[in-house]
Amino acid sequence: MKRGHHLLTAQLLTGLLACGCAVAQDSYTDLRGNVSAEWTGFWEDAKFPNQHDSYLSLAGEPELIHERNDGDDIFTFKPFYRVDQHDNKRTHGDVRDLSWIHAARDWELTTGFSKVFWGVTEAVHLVDIINQTDFVENIDGEDKLGQPMVNLALIRDWGVVDLFVLPYFRERTFRGKEGYWQVGSHNYQPEEMATRAAFQDMPEEVWAWYLYRRGVCRAANPNRAHVALSRAERRGRERFLLITQNVDGLHLRAGNTLDRTYQIHGNIDFMRCTRECLPAPVQVPDGIDLQWSKGRALTEGELQQLGCPSCGAPARPHVLWFDETYDEPNFRFQSAIEAARSATLLVVVGTTGGTSLPMHVGTIAAQRGVPMVVVNPEPNPFSALVARTGNGVFLSGTAGEWVPQIASALPSA
Ligand SMILES: [Zn+2]
Repeated sequence: MKRGHHLLTAQLLTGLLACGCAVAQDSYTDLRGNVSAEWTGFWEDAKFPNQHDSYLSLAGEPELIHERNDGDDIFTFKPFYRVDQHDNKRTHGDVRDLSWIHAARDWELTTGFSKVFWGVTEAVHLVDIINQTDFVENIDGEDKLGQPMVNLALIRDWGVVDLFVLPYFRERTFRGKEGYWQVGSHNYQPEEMATRAAFQDMPEEVWAWYLYRRGVCRAANPNRAHVALSRAERRGRERFLLITQNVDGLHLRAGNTLDRTYQIHGNIDFMRCTRECLPAPVQVPDGIDLQWSKGRALTEGELQQLGCPSCGAPARPHVLWFDETYDEPNFRFQSAIEAARSATLLVVVGTTGGTSLPMHVGTIAAQRGVPMVVVNPEPNPFSALVARTGNGVFLSGTAGEWVPQIASALPSA
């Protein structure tokens, strides 16, 4: 008997507020930011005592920017706060940015809580040396904690020297008990679960975690940006190519084809042979429930279905794990680089440049003089590339605001 924990998720409200005013001729104040609400409800009773029938969460992130002396002095204040109905640890606040930047002709001084896009490239994620990741807010590693610092940048003809003084180091944060995945008496963090090592130790538990997350993804519907991108592919045909870091499968569900979509971090709807005997990943079988309640274990029959259809070896989720690297057969690594070498326009949407392959693609395109359109709520390494090359535009905002307009402006094949 199916006893799914039916799921309904609503993004109740996402507002964007912005206003700017010039107080005096050489000073300017801008207040902007966004508020959002998430609600998830279940039609059936919870199976476990620590589960609830509905989850409500509210977040706000205003940003105040004050400029003086024709922009030579910039004061930024960006607090963040989230209130979560059940998860006390997810109810959290942070100062993402509280800084004063003074720019002179050949030096720049930053003081306060700030974020720096700097690091060394690891296999998958850029290791952020300065800012630690806010895993409470999001497990994708894209949200960074503000870090108290004094940064002096010396700008010379041959490059920039950055000197940092960090009075103390902020530790990474994780969600409370309800954001963890419980196996036996141990609570695992997402970055522990999403690894090849965890799958080798406890394949059934890792599968259960992915099947739960797959249910959450299935409860979501493609948004305006997804729909606009599928329309852009239909019009642009082989002139259009989508490289995505998303594993939620929403691009394919919106109508983009597997042929023109490089899912460089995989797709939670797919699995592949652990012996790599299949030429391509296959869909998770229809017999596997789409609604998967937290803590529900796999049955013997389900385990059998999650095997390689060709050789019978166990199959694994088709997702790039934290301890794995990009490759061509599974994640189109070389093809993505090739695309950057032949593109005539690059549109970069909603990424902080935290992973290495998207950064490669952007850098290659920029070096070739390809114009770049960057969409993101805040500046990122891609907008910095545009600022440096002067070839392209940075559009501050969300994918939903900008992608439909950009897509309709793209030429047809
Ligand atoms: Zn196989």
